[in-house]
Amino acid sequence: MRSEVNLQTSSDSASSASSSAEERPYLVLIRYGELALKGKNRGFFERKLASNIRSACEGLSKVRVELRRGRIMVWPEQKPERVAKRLQDVMGIQSVSLARGVPLDPELIAEEGLRSVQEALEGCPADEIQSFRVATRRGNKNFQMTSSELDCYVADRVLPELEKRLKVQLKGADLVLGIEVREKNAFIFTKRLPGPGGLPVGTLGHVLCLLSGGIDSPVAAWMAMKRGCRVSYVTYHSSPYLGDASRKKVVDLVRILAQYQPTSQLFVVPFTKCQEAIRDFAPERYRTVLYRRMMQRIATRLARRNRCGALVTGESLGQVASQTLENITCIEDASGLPVIRPLIAMDKQESVNLAQRIGTYDTSIEPAPDCCTVFQPEKPIIYGRIEECLEAETTFDLDELLTEALRGTERIKVRLDD
Ligand code: ATP
Ligand code: MG
Repeated sequence: MRSEVNLQTSSDSASSASSSAEERPYLVLIRYGELALKGKNRGFFERKLASNIRSACEGLSKVRVELRRGRIMVWPEQKPERVAKRLQDVMGIQSVSLARGVPLDPELIAEEGLRSVQEALEGCPADEIQSFRVATRRGNKNFQMTSSELDCYVADRVLPELEKRLKVQLKGADLVLGIEVREKNAFIFTKRLPGPGGLPVGTLGHVLCLLSGGIDSPVAAWMAMKRGCRVSYVTYHSSPYLGDASRKKVVDLVRILAQYQPTSQLFVVPFTKCQEAIRDFAPERYRTVLYRRMMQRIATRLARRNRCGALVTGESLGQVASQTLENITCIEDASGLPVIRPLIAMDKQESVNLAQRIGTYDTSIEPAPDCCTVFQPEKPIIYGRIEECLEAETTFDLDELLTEALRGTERIKVRLDD
């Protein structure tokens, strides 16, 4: 099912506004923050966001997407609540509101305002919403009333109907009735649901994320997406030392991340031969650092083939032995591309909190070991030295191992709702 993007910029579609109150359909009003700062590139960022919104709705509802000055309006054909919920995960979106459009007539605006407040109160315990206020934003300066005049006008009509239940409170009201006065319509809503913020996926290039089954790397991928990167994934697998559960866990994580980027690809690299060579020929204490150097080399080649401009990892300074400044330096030395580490200064708990928020945590903590646990040294090196790594790597045929790993790499395409 394809949905349409209408890049209308100047006026408001009046289709809903002319209908009677009963028929007025919901639309999703989208606010975005940082894009507004992008100067001449602003149109590019907005169009990308509109197209990502359309992709996110695929399979859920046909939608019409309209760009208006500083806002995006999404008109779903069905399931508006679910569309709004899904759009809360689209990078670049600051907040969304389910709203209804009304013609620019104060009387009709007040009538719709009352109806929206009544709907918000329905099924809500009396002590939860005791105060309200009206907050008008007037994008259309030709409208006959100022913002505060319309606030008062609407409040004066809502209040008598609900006097036993609500009082007006200008600061810290339990319920805020929002009104946006645009060119042809006013849009009315009572909730602002937060989005992730950031920049639309695909506006800041393509990166390759080294994804283990742990807690951190899915969070790192999400953070790269949030800064506008399109993310592909690579994972390293040591069959038969590790079973299918470890591999499945990574695929499951990519599926969860599809909420934020509906299509992606995962490369699964057979890593056993590399690990066996390192086990057989390199100093035991260096194994983990050497595994990671191999991962960087393989990832660099995959990234170049797939036009990725950087690698992303879930490394955090000092979290484990392989993440000291010295070891990170040894690992990065084997990469041919910039390595982005969004979690570098985060505590584990902060990463756990984010993993819970984005929905990857429960899968990440399923017990299935990572390939780095295979032939794990008793006493891993903490302050590794690049010269030692290079020397160890002369003891086996690096190119042969890389070529073989790449030859055996499997590519899995993942789509939202797969
Ligand atoms: P995570 O929770 O992401 O596994 P971690 O704190 O457990 O992170 P490490 O196991 O030391 O950290 O791994 C550091 C980073 O190396 C990971 O965040 C990931 O980017 C990468 N990495 C580790 N193991 C693998 C793997 N099997 N496949 C792909 N990348 C990996
Ligand atoms: Mg790990």
